Amino acid sequence: MKLARLIRILNLVIWSLVIGSLPSSAWAKLKVVTSTTDVAGLVRAIGADDIQLESIARGTQDPHYIEAKPSYMTKLAHADLLVANGLGLEVGWLPSLIRGARNPKLNPGQKGYLELGESVAPLDIPQGTITRAMGDIHPEGNPHFTLDPERMAELAKVVAKRLGELDTSAAPRFSERAESFAKSTAQRMKDWKARVDRLPNKKVVTYHNSLLYFTTRFGLQPVGVLEPKPGIPPSAQHALDIIATMKRENAKAILVDNYFDPKIAHHVERNVPGAKVQVVGIAVESAPGLPTLADVTEGLIQALERVARP
Ligand SMILES: [Zn+2]
Repeated sequence: MKLARLIRILNLVIWSLVIGSLPSSAWAKLKVVTSTTDVAGLVRAIGADDIQLESIARGTQDPHYIEAKPSYMTKLAHADLLVANGLGLEVGWLPSLIRGARNPKLNPGQKGYLELGESVAPLDIPQGTITRAMGDIHPEGNPHFTLDPERMAELAKVVAKRLGELDTSAAPRFSERAESFAKSTAQRMKDWKARVDRLPNKKVVTYHNSLLYFTTRFGLQPVGVLEPKPGIPPSAQHALDIIATMKRENAKAILVDNYFDPKIAHHVERNVPGAKVQVVGIAVESAPGLPTLADVTEGLIQALERVARP
């Protein structure tokens, strides 16, 4: 009786040793945490049900300003991989979360840390000395590249490569999905570009400079930004300047990210003949009906089409 019990205990001990020595991927899915829902949108397309995925910021939050909550540190403490946007977007909150998580896998330079911005050709790199007076400026360039479908298709390969390094058994599926993501993006780009080309007026005013990659990719013409400087709320004086610019340039479209207050945009709209404000979700999950990156692009193009409609 005693021996049987001893054998049972020994068995348990041996099994727990075996389980402990195996790579976690043999037993559980790769745990991936992303900084934003846009990054999650890309990672989900590649990882699908081979990974467990969570985003720190919600789509309805301004990704520049996220409160560094202890619960986020717990998420990171258990993660195998953190995928960040980079180019300074999360500089105000992610470094302190990483420090607080005390997970050596996620330290910059480790396989468990991937910053997409490092693999992107940035737009809008500021020239000369950067001062506080310039507003909340990103020294590495504009970080809002997730709104460029073509850059994201390129990044799909970067994500697939890293996921495959961390879970070799699923690597072929990751690269397959990156291929099909790139293919479907290329297909949709044809339709999107054709629709933008048909717009009678390609001039746009935005709230923040978050649509720069989008406007550049689609050949739209940004004529003004409601924020006088990045991160600085619009002033009455600057609104007057924008009204004058829109009248002079014959611009009609005012696109406002849905996490900003559209009040000043509506003030401009009332003062420019034919102007139309469109409050748009510019991030994955920023509004119902935007579960993927393609849905966000589609939503932006539909907003421009609504402005063009008489
Ligand atoms: Zn920004």
